[in-house]
Amino acid sequence: MNIIKNLVDKSKYGIKCPFVMTATRIVVHETANDASAENEIAYMRRNDKESSFHFAVDDKQIVQGIPLDRNAWHAGDGNGKGNREGIAVEICYSKSGGERWQKSVDNAARFIAELLKERNWGVDKVTKHQDYSGKNCPHRILSDYGWNNFVNLVSNYLNEEDKPVSVPTNKKISVIYQVWDDVRNAWLPVVTDLTDYAGIYGHDVCAVFAALSRGNIFYKVHIKGGRWLPEVKNREDYAGLYNKPIDALMMRTDTGRTIKYAVHLRRSGRWLPFVTGYNEKDSNNGFAGILGQEIDAIKIYIE
Ligand SMILES: [Zn+2]
Repeated sequence: MNIIKNLVDKSKYGIKCPFVMTATRIVVHETANDASAENEIAYMRRNDKESSFHFAVDDKQIVQGIPLDRNAWHAGDGNGKGNREGIAVEICYSKSGGERWQKSVDNAARFIAELLKERNWGVDKVTKHQDYSGKNCPHRILSDYGWNNFVNLVSNYLNEEDKPVSVPTNKKISVIYQVWDDVRNAWLPVVTDLTDYAGIYGHDVCAVFAALSRGNIFYKVHIKGGRWLPEVKNREDYAGLYNKPIDALMMRTDTGRTIKYAVHLRRSGRWLPFVTGYNEKDSNNGFAGILGQEIDAIKIYIE
């Protein structure tokens, strides 16, 4: 993804970024409004408030407003480490949420992974505004997504270089997944492994998003009364069609591990047994679900 530089004028350095900075961390924020990254940075450049941040990320691009060797005022900790040593990343569209917010979160996770990689940092360097001043920020990630799930997503992109995993190790591989809910007309919060299930009993699942902490996941869904949709990989795309209930799911990975997944049937209100990954050559075997029966929740993990 391209970074568009739209830096504050040097005449405003005294207000916006008075100190030279050697960054030691990333500080994640959400804008709590529905402005694009471009508008967010343009507003920051234009006004004479101290409030400032290095990057704004939306569903399409990353815009930079403050140079990385200067501090910004965003963490609410005065001259603490957030403001004086943090690279501030604002994620857009958090007020209303929805698909463009989801995409912005995904882009931000990918971008933060790049920042970490460039500096040889681990995900322990990813912090949130709340850590510095207690503010409920990034608010929608905290409420709808879960901070640990966001860090897992960053971790997933950070480790992407290592893919595919040809030699299995004993290190645990986590599955991060979420479903599109037909009643809410929205993506539900992300779930990791068996800490929860994805879905709401009684609501049809129409689409699935999944990614691994290491390695690739491939998956596809069957539309109720229809056909199998093409296989998708990781979070490059979701499997499903909004507002079309699914009745079967198939998943596989290249990790050398066994993926296990189960679905919950809306009408009979029960979980089917876990099934394991399918073999592409025999691609209509090993699916989870009963054709004709809507799925309202899923569970996935890697053994
Ligand atoms: Zn914030």
